[in-house]
Amino acid sequence: MLVALMLSLGCPPHKNDPATGSLLAKGRIEVVEKPNTELKNDFYIGNRPPLLPSPLIKLPIGAIEPHGWVRRQLELQADGFHGNLTEISRFLIKEKNAWLSPTGEGSHGWEEPVYWLKGFSNCGYILRNRRMIDESKIWIEAALKSQKEDGWFGPDKGRKGAATRLQGREDLWPNMIMLFCLQNYHESTSDKRVIELMTNYMKYLTTVPEERFLVGYWPKMRGGDLLYSVYWLYNRTGDEFLLDLAKKVHRRTAEWEKDVINWHNVNMSQGFGQPATFYMQSKDPNHLWAAERNWRKIRDMYGQFPGGMFGGDENCRPGFTDPRQAVETCGMVEMMLSHEILLTITGDARWADRCEDVTFNSLPAAFTPDLKALHYLTSPNMILCDRHTKSPGLQNGGPMLLFNPHIHRCCQHNTGHGWPYYAEHLWMATPGNGLAAVLYAPSKVTAKVGDGTKITITEKTTYPFDEKIRLTIKTPKPVRFPLYLRVPAWCENPGLSINGVASSIKAAPRSYFMIDRKWADGDTVDLNLAMKISLTQWTKNNNSVSVNRGPLTYSLKIGEKYVRAGGTEKWPAWEIHPTTAWNYGLILNESDLASSFRVVRKAWPADNQPFEAEAAPIELHAKAKKIPQWQKDNLGLVGLLQPSPAKSDEPTETVTLVPMGCARLRISSFPTIGTGPDAFQWNTPAKPAESLPASSYGLQKNKFNSVKFDPVQTTSLRLEAQLQPDFSAGILEWRIETNER
Ligand SMILES: [Zn+2]
Repeated sequence: MLVALMLSLGCPPHKNDPATGSLLAKGRIEVVEKPNTELKNDFYIGNRPPLLPSPLIKLPIGAIEPHGWVRRQLELQADGFHGNLTEISRFLIKEKNAWLSPTGEGSHGWEEPVYWLKGFSNCGYILRNRRMIDESKIWIEAALKSQKEDGWFGPDKGRKGAATRLQGREDLWPNMIMLFCLQNYHESTSDKRVIELMTNYMKYLTTVPEERFLVGYWPKMRGGDLLYSVYWLYNRTGDEFLLDLAKKVHRRTAEWEKDVINWHNVNMSQGFGQPATFYMQSKDPNHLWAAERNWRKIRDMYGQFPGGMFGGDENCRPGFTDPRQAVETCGMVEMMLSHEILLTITGDARWADRCEDVTFNSLPAAFTPDLKALHYLTSPNMILCDRHTKSPGLQNGGPMLLFNPHIHRCCQHNTGHGWPYYAEHLWMATPGNGLAAVLYAPSKVTAKVGDGTKITITEKTTYPFDEKIRLTIKTPKPVRFPLYLRVPAWCENPGLSINGVASSIKAAPRSYFMIDRKWADGDTVDLNLAMKISLTQWTKNNNSVSVNRGPLTYSLKIGEKYVRAGGTEKWPAWEIHPTTAWNYGLILNESDLASSFRVVRKAWPADNQPFEAEAAPIELHAKAKKIPQWQKDNLGLVGLLQPSPAKSDEPTETVTLVPMGCARLRISSFPTIGTGPDAFQWNTPAKPAESLPASSYGLQKNKFNSVKFDPVQTTSLRLEAQLQPDFSAGILEWRIETNER
């Protein structure tokens, strides 16, 4: 064993390749599954024993400077609704805010302010935006000053969330979010008060009796967030009591290690990986496997369409699995963060692939391209975003598809952490004092490597819209360290060259190139992640297909007309209506897929925002036919898919596909067109009766108002009340009198 290792160190793996030979003169290139955890990192805080060693280590905030299109997302967020939410959201009014009160009394002491702070402060730290850093400081300082004698901090008496019956200290959920805010603040400033506060709070948690610990729906489902914070603190202080507390947190958290324990989309996205976090301590492979098993089960049952998410338009519901089912924007950002955490825990590149899938294909479409408005629900097939309810087609009723910065409460506050955490995980430190490029995007990383030399690597690329990535190393003196480059699962033949000399080493998909050599100032690495067109066939969704090229999935480009729908002059709300047809099936030559599509490159958008249908820097042109029977339903939702291949007598047309993340209106799961005897004739679904003709509706408060209808025969009735903006009301009781004899 030892001999083999010595040989591989001493000899190039491809002796006959002069290029590889010269590359290896100064070191070696290997293909590995993940960084070697037998080595240590002397500069960044990974897991402390007895926790399992970290294959990848998150760099402190500030080490990574996002550039290009990623930076643009953060700048747009800073100028958009999220960066200005203090002037939009009533939950952030400072007067009487329980999060700002030294006694912990007041209103709005639940999740909204801390949800907002988590993304807002991170965005400010990354952009070094003084306004945002100063505003964040107000909330951070208040939290630091709120700690009680016994270790509790934050809102105390009277905490009450709309979605919880828990009072005050019973509800540990909002504090979990503030712990993330405090960690980010500490990473950015090294303020020791954070360690003190967290230690005292964790000691308080050890005193909470087991039967009152992590009680209630949200705390129980989301205990994994608390577990993460316990380990974060343990890795910095080594306080042994934290390991016992971690066991208690795991014991009292919903049993995600047994199954997908809950079908609320945000709980799932946040909780599915919890057992893998505990695996760092338990070392039980079942805990590690549980995260993978949960993810697969979720995708298998409710994620049979592209975009990396699943249909949970509040909760997943049996039978609601068509690609028109949507997911909450909160679900997307929590899924991204779960993937980022799982990537650091396991080093397994599959979590990076999955993170990019959600980040590139799902998240951008949840916001208007200027990031000045968001909506609550986004789905892969979405043909109209208006103010009208889509319930019961989508579970959550109300204007959930309307792009409106004034509503959508949890998402409105929470979704600001998506882009900042993504930007903070582009690069990671590795054992052996190295660096890893794990998520590719234009950026610059500054970190200590090798013997402690501080180096900078600039990453130039327009990935994921292009396949070329160039890294340039800047170092004050030559320094030896391992540089890891992730090879995505979709990339069969990545090209690698160092200082212009190509390597012949072949990397398996879903692995890392590990280049261990003495790096000199100005050294360059070129990575070519060859992207080819592939199809995913969704056999469980009527054999529909989605079209991928590299990490991007492509959607039909549908003309988008923005229609003003309320809001304020400064922060308007928008409906988006289709101006072109969307009911197409693709004509594919499956024996030569590439011939079915033409890749068309377009100019890079001048404003650096590629996630817009008209600005997409790359398009695919394809042949398609309309399927006239495919229509929108009475709610304005895209009709359910019927089996493919579908029959169509319509003329062949050329259609344009754009990256899914660029399309607010989109068809991402397509029927295919067939001509043979196996092609299916689609039906036009029978329209349910729209509203019934009736006498006028009464409007008396707290009294029965009767309405008379012409007689109908039906087995069910649905009552739908539509309120004017900013009014709230409820139906107290309803009775149906029938004249059935
Ligand atoms: Zn939400």
